[in-house]
Amino acid sequence: MAYKITSKCISCDLCIDVCPTGAIKTVEGKRWIDPNLCTNCVGSVYTVPQCKAGCPTCDGCVKESLDYWESWFSTYDKLITKLTKKEDYWERWFGTYSQTFQQKLNAHS
Ligand code: SF4
Ligand code: SF4
Repeated sequence: MAYKITSKCISCDLCIDVCPTGAIKTVEGKRWIDPNLCTNCVGSVYTVPQCKAGCPTCDGCVKESLDYWESWFSTYDKLITKLTKKEDYWERWFGTYSQTFQQKLNAHS
């Protein structure tokens, strides 16, 4: 879910320059975050969302809340990622095990 700018925004424009993806724009005089460009700052050099971090207001810039199905898919994606990683783990484990086993067999032949 992207961040969004609320009615608490005081139009200070501090967030516009710090957004690493250029997602914050001015539309009809109001600041607006393009949800297609906002990455929540994930994958950037920043560890926290820059618009939220630098906003002088309390709730001028907030993360959009998930609705039921978005939340459901988000949990599903996380679980799938975990399972996929587990599969990778076992694939790697078997790969290493087979390699070591083959080396030992070769040493004795
Ligand atoms: S969370 Fe990051 S990418 Fe999204 S609008 Fe804010 S600064 Fe830009
Ligand atoms: S930093 Fe906060 S108050 Fe300033 S323009 Fe951005 S959302 Fe609005």
